[in-house]
Amino acid sequence: MIRKEITEKAHQLLQTRREELREMRRENEESNLRLSEPQVEFEERAQQEKMQQELESLDRRNRDELDAVNMALQRIGAGTYGLCLECGEEISEKRLLAIPWTATCIECAGGGKEEIEPPVVRLDDQEESAQPMNETYAGLVDEELCDAIMEHLHYDGRVELEDLRVHCEGERIELHGALPSQESSDLLHEIIEDTFGVHDIVDNLRIDPEAWERPDRTPGVDIPQRSDEETVIEGEPGESNYFVSIKDGEPVDPD
Ligand SMILES: [Zn+2]
Repeated sequence: MIRKEITEKAHQLLQTRREELREMRRENEESNLRLSEPQVEFEERAQQEKMQQELESLDRRNRDELDAVNMALQRIGAGTYGLCLECGEEISEKRLLAIPWTATCIECAGGGKEEIEPPVVRLDDQEESAQPMNETYAGLVDEELCDAIMEHLHYDGRVELEDLRVHCEGERIELHGALPSQESSDLLHEIIEDTFGVHDIVDNLRIDPEAWERPDRTPGVDIPQRSDEETVIEGEPGESNYFVSIKDGEPVDPD
């Protein structure tokens, strides 16, 4: 006989897990919608497809687990919770608390290898990082976030973008290139933190007022004849393909 308190504890864990899974599926669907938007242009089509595949596979896992959670909740309602669906024996309490949605005992599960890995049992994991990223941007993939930042800066117009490169990775933003003043740099930090809610900023910027005093305002390079597109220092297209230049999205090399 499975003890009542074990079933109650499992019930609580299952309900929490169900909410988590539903939330994950909602977020997943939103990300998928964003990825499908026609105006979102990715540098590489293959990369977009790869991300969609990853989302799909993640969502399949979440859906399977959600099904298992719902079935376990039904068994609790029916009073059959904790009995192995294969052999009818009781599932160990330890196993029930570790994998509350399990439908089989450890023997029938073949040692548990094929089962969905349980999350560490936790009921008090509601805490988020102290300053969460702005919700509007939190679901964006790195390239989208980069694009969103550059677009914002472009329309904002207060920060000189000619030699600025932004690299996004996770919730970290790296800044490369040069700005004409400390004020400009401070403003850039302020925009990234306040508007985008990103606080992990790695600043590799040079402050280079003289570069902006040159007639062609192209810091760091001497190009005798320069078309409007060539505002970014050319570099080797290398491993760092997340760098997005301001005007045309061409990858440029970091410093
Ligand atoms: Zn069994």
